[in-house]
Amino acid sequence: MASADCVVAVDVGGTSVKAAVVDARGTANAAVTVPTSRGAEQVADQVAALADELTDAVQARGPAPVALGVVTPGLVDEHSGTVLLAGNLGWRDAPMRALVEKRVDLPVAFGHDVRAGGLAEAVLGAGRDAGDHLFLAIGTGIAGAVMLGGTAYSGGGYAGEIGHIVVEPGGDACACGARGCLEATASARAIARRYALRTGERVAAAEVAARAVAGDVHAVAVWDAAVIGLAEALRVCLCVLAPELIVVGGGLATSGDQLLEPLRARLAERLTFQRVPHVVAAELGERAGCLGAGLLAWHAIGREVRP
Ligand SMILES: [Zn+2]
Repeated sequence: MASADCVVAVDVGGTSVKAAVVDARGTANAAVTVPTSRGAEQVADQVAALADELTDAVQARGPAPVALGVVTPGLVDEHSGTVLLAGNLGWRDAPMRALVEKRVDLPVAFGHDVRAGGLAEAVLGAGRDAGDHLFLAIGTGIAGAVMLGGTAYSGGGYAGEIGHIVVEPGGDACACGARGCLEATASARAIARRYALRTGERVAAAEVAARAVAGDVHAVAVWDAAVIGLAEALRVCLCVLAPELIVVGGGLATSGDQLLEPLRARLAERLTFQRVPHVVAAELGERAGCLGAGLLAWHAIGREVRP
């Protein structure tokens, strides 16, 4: 295949940084993963080093990257290029786009990991040709991306915080300071914690899901509460946005129909007049954030990506 233009895409996570080059068809190559450094300056150094490494790797066989996209978790204001707050990185008001721009000779696009993941699913995955829709990422935390007119609505960085819709009033404490948030009920972390509280046994959320299928009563109770919480939060989203499609991604979505079938049922039984949405699994898995960073980089230089 002929060598083609590409961009560098970097997805900064709480524990690891994923990087790759992404071509104009949305295909990722030369993927690398490294543990996340501490501090915004250090992570910007890391992003620049990964960009150098990937540039060297692709230059051996084709043109150098033409732009760089980087995404992070937290409250991300794409407009100012700032991470307003990222609890799991310990950052507040980190000017991430400027920090990276200082270190590389490429146009830099900067965004939010889940909104970028939603964009990737919208262009390359389960949201292809869907028009406006909702992307929900259920992992260690829970967040969403409201996909409108082909981009993710940002609200100055505050939009899409579906994980902080209260689904169990007075329920478990959430990291945000409130009680009974969806994230304290249905995130992978919450599922593992709630199962451990009942049984004294610490296992991953996927194992709780497997034990629920096997009939473990504690696993069934924890899993059902998570599904009910998700259904309640999605009902709220439906009332506001009425999406006809909901794409469910993040680590917990790998449970597939074990999550989606009861979720569809619990959601349907809650609806009165609302349109029943299609609820489908995301297709890009944990690559979504990195691919989304690549799409943002392409868009920053005025190029569309066509699979
Ligand atoms: Zn919360």
